[in-house]
Amino acid sequence: MSAQVQALQPHHIQPLAQIPPAGVDFFDPVPFKVYTQRDLDRIAPLARLSSEQRFEMKVVSSVLPFRVNQYVIDELIDWSKVPDDPIFQLTFPQRGMLAPEHYERIAGLIRGGADKAELERAVGEVRHALNPHPADQMEMNMPRDEHGKRLEGMQHKYRETVLFFPTQGQTCHSYCSFCFRWAQFVGDKELRICSSEAIELHNYLRRHPEVTDLLVTGGDPMVMKTRHLRDFLEPLLQPEFDHVQTIRIGSKALTFWPHRFLGADDADDLIRLLTQLVEAGKHVALMAHYNHWKELDTEAAQAAIRRIRGTGAVIRAQGPLVAHINDDPAVWAKLWKLEVKLGLVPYYMFVERDTGARNYFEVPLVRAWEIYREAMQQVSGLARTARGPSMSASPGKVEIQGVAEIAGEKVFVLRFIQGRNPDWVQRPFFAKFDDKATWLDQLVPAFGEEKWFWQDEYEAIREDRLAAA
Ligand SMILES: *Cc1c(COP(=O)(O)O)cnc(C)c1O
Ligand code: SF4
Repeated sequence: MSAQVQALQPHHIQPLAQIPPAGVDFFDPVPFKVYTQRDLDRIAPLARLSSEQRFEMKVVSSVLPFRVNQYVIDELIDWSKVPDDPIFQLTFPQRGMLAPEHYERIAGLIRGGADKAELERAVGEVRHALNPHPADQMEMNMPRDEHGKRLEGMQHKYRETVLFFPTQGQTCHSYCSFCFRWAQFVGDKELRICSSEAIELHNYLRRHPEVTDLLVTGGDPMVMKTRHLRDFLEPLLQPEFDHVQTIRIGSKALTFWPHRFLGADDADDLIRLLTQLVEAGKHVALMAHYNHWKELDTEAAQAAIRRIRGTGAVIRAQGPLVAHINDDPAVWAKLWKLEVKLGLVPYYMFVERDTGARNYFEVPLVRAWEIYREAMQQVSGLARTARGPSMSASPGKVEIQGVAEIAGEKVFVLRFIQGRNPDWVQRPFFAKFDDKATWLDQLVPAFGEEKWFWQDEYEAIREDRLAAA
């Protein structure tokens, strides 16, 4: 190159090829090693617990799903703090997760060496008592195709956004002890929501131009091989899907298995897929599930975040507020600050849902609001993008905006962030204050009103939906 041409090159702009790829962090492929209930005795650090504690885990994990992997055991749990360690509480079964009568029943059968059929029957009954399908998900959210056939692997509750549950994504790299989708993991076919049909998804999206967002969820879609993800996502780059602007992928892989994004060939292929979607003009959002800042505090997790951000995808962070894990404003403030530092966008703080081990994990709504408020006060505006505490209830996502006293009555101020009817969104409404309430169905309207402003309409929609089901 002549001196003259060189002078024309703005020297502060590097030619593309010389910019280091975002994934400069080099990680060798790491084999994925997983443990389930059968393997409890092979998890080495559990040896430090008493045999009674290990028996309790066995009982609880007969009812509720359990799955953990070596990365979580080695890098996320501080075994010197067990059983209080938040990631131990997040992944390992705890006795308090079952009601005492349920616990005693299953423990008695196991101790007495009950036969398999008897134990399975009891386990099935306990599971059915745990509200396996909160918020009428099955009956009320499943869309239909043009022939009226129910599309099992999808939910379409809010106009703009379709949820898609690919069959191969109906598991996770570990299970959260509080998971509201636990019923999908316990092998009860009837309770599963899933689909193997990319074609069904594409047909549905083609016929619904009002849909701007596709949210691929599970389980965790990141347990799938990239080539399967590609089958669902790549066709969306055709002009007929221009209305689908945003592709969201709900995942906890950044916590449970960041190596999904590092090292292996399939990880490189995933990074290429994300890059390709972004470059074609889609907004790609990884909806990452976080409960505690410890999940972000490993080299692999941070390298995976850098790599994903290097594709141009956005990482948005959300997760429930749960007792024993993160019911503390300092934990949330630290989590949100670290998210912002690493380039993530705090998105939602959820209220723990009314299913499974809720009695162990739930936090009163008033306490949830206090924690949210105290955490917000400690962070800058860039972390105040987390909305909540929000209940994903059947009528919609309802946020607790605060506690107020109006005309002498103490009330919760509520609003819909999302509603089955978009017209409900952003209208404040009021519930009688109740310091014990943990979910919307325990609240009653304030000021002596007989019903919520949305109640008649909601009940009409519900009847309509259930009649069609
Ligand atoms: C939360 C949720 C969405 C997405 O809502 P956003 O507010 O757009 O994040 C979509 N469908 C269902 C069923 C949901 O619960
Ligand atoms: S990652 Fe999500 S779907 Fe999987 S167990 Fe945890 S909460 Fe449930």
